[in-house]
Amino acid sequence: MRVAKETVVAIEYTLKDDQGNIIDASGDRGPMEYLHGAQNIIPGLEQGIDGLVAGDTKNVLVPPQLGYGEYNEKLLQLVPLTAFGANTPQVGMRFHAETNLGMRVLTIKKIEGEEVTLDGNHELAGKTLHFDIKVVSVRAAEPTELAHGHPHQAGGCCGGGGCGSGEASGGGCCSSEEGSAGGCCSTEEPAAAQKQGGCGSGGCGCS
Ligand SMILES: [Zn+2]
Repeated sequence: MRVAKETVVAIEYTLKDDQGNIIDASGDRGPMEYLHGAQNIIPGLEQGIDGLVAGDTKNVLVPPQLGYGEYNEKLLQLVPLTAFGANTPQVGMRFHAETNLGMRVLTIKKIEGEEVTLDGNHELAGKTLHFDIKVVSVRAAEPTELAHGHPHQAGGCCGGGGCGSGEASGGGCCSSEEGSAGGCCSTEEPAAAQKQGGCGSGGCGCS
């Protein structure tokens, strides 16, 4: 079966920057599963995988406009150190905050004297992404997966039967509290290839 719209695809990948530094890799997490054609992953990667079959390997080059967007200086903002109250901000720290562009992940970019520079850009904004991918499997999506816009198998975000039960899966893989390391539902640090909010935004409670 070829990768096409309405197939669930599992890939292994290594993501590098222009200098060849590894930014992210499926590695120990195992293959990443996604629903093709449902915007689960960045457009450039999805286009690169389209039409492949299980076992295929490919280098996919993704420019910023098909990845995480261009770097936007307007997403930089200065806040006073006092805004952090009792917390001690450190460069590189990340947190969620309401901004004039809605809820975003902000990264502390710089601390100078009493001023802290926050960056609302995605950490991969402005970067050309070099993916080495291998297609592990391709299968037709189940009707419920199409309805929900994400895969339901183990390894997917709603694996383990948490999905469809109709119950709030307390502590399930889709709980935002429990940063399931590297899982697609972790709100802290989504796997780089996975669009932020691709999972969970559709309600991994799957009602
Ligand atoms: Zn679901």
